[in-house]
Amino acid sequence: MSHSPLLFTPGPLSTSATVKEAMLKDMGSRDFAFMNAVKEIRSGLLALANVSKDKGYECVIMQGSGTFGVESVISSVIGEKDKLLVLANGAYGERIVKMAKIHRLNHEVVRFDEDAVVTPESVEKYLAAHSDITHVACIHSETTTGLFNPIAAIGDVCKKYRKVFIVDAMSSFGGVVMDMAAMNIDFLVSSSNKCIEGVPGFAFALCKRSELEKAKGQARSLSLDLYDQWAGLEASGQFRFTPPTLSIMAFQQAMKELEHEGGVAAREKRYKTNKKTLDEGMHRMGFRQYLVPEIQGHIITSFLYPDSSNFRFNEFYSKLNDRGFVIYPGKLSKADAFRIGNIGQIFPEDVKALLEAIAIVMKEFEI
Ligand SMILES: *Cc1c(COP(=O)(O)O)cnc(C)c1O
Repeated sequence: MSHSPLLFTPGPLSTSATVKEAMLKDMGSRDFAFMNAVKEIRSGLLALANVSKDKGYECVIMQGSGTFGVESVISSVIGEKDKLLVLANGAYGERIVKMAKIHRLNHEVVRFDEDAVVTPESVEKYLAAHSDITHVACIHSETTTGLFNPIAAIGDVCKKYRKVFIVDAMSSFGGVVMDMAAMNIDFLVSSSNKCIEGVPGFAFALCKRSELEKAKGQARSLSLDLYDQWAGLEASGQFRFTPPTLSIMAFQQAMKELEHEGGVAAREKRYKTNKKTLDEGMHRMGFRQYLVPEIQGHIITSFLYPDSSNFRFNEFYSKLNDRGFVIYPGKLSKADAFRIGNIGQIFPEDVKALLEAIAIVMKEFEI
């Protein structure tokens, strides 16, 4: 196959030809078109979260992958006398725990099973008993498994106990309708190469300004200093260090295409249709899912290996790859599974094509 492979992964994702074309012109960091794109993206992202500067929110773009954005927030907003509670039920929650350790932050972890959501009741119980907690961090769409934690309900608990709420919405933002203020989220982090369907290059943090201002002078890292990055963008519209110019130009185009599709609600609908098509087709072939449907999100799904010694994942993966379909290995601690994503420039017809390829490969395996 000569055309681009289709990526059924959690990012980088398949992008449109027009998004890729937006990167064809060399762009200096002081070019008017670039500066304008940064401005448009910063206000556009706030609008996607249903907030604005007028409502007291700010958008900070941070070079690097999504993890750089999460680490920028974690290492900048938790002060020396503060204490972070990490709610973890997968690899991405554990990644925040790792950050807290490396930056020597005061922190506690409450862990949940990988196949269960973080319950607001247990968060409330913990916060009621531990008044020294100042910040709470949680993953929205846990890409490890594909579950959705009940962020709005956890946000209500954080509001009741007056905790600053940090959400890694990396793999869901842009693919799930979200109102940041209504969900009591103070810091929401996502990146350029997930549901907004841009190319890799940067992360962004949507921040409640009154909380962002408290981060002044308390970062543990120069390059990941969230407050300084914001102050730089505000003062001159410029990044402190070399910006991902072409990735920004691609993202500006990706945001236009999101709007053209009908906004986040329309994109959520397409992803859900992809998911439904995938579920039905995989079920017909006898594949079982790792999670119960009640907690499964529509971003990515973990499928258990079939009960057959004929199944070898590496071969399955490369046979699909040869046919132009890229899936994703599993990341579970307790079960053998692989993952298939529904996000990016993929449509139900593409999912059907993937299903046909899986059927052929399974036949080859004699399963
Ligand atoms: C993709 C992702 C990240 C960021 O990963 P990077 O490889 O740094 O881009 C963080 N959290 C979640 C939940 C993700 O899905």
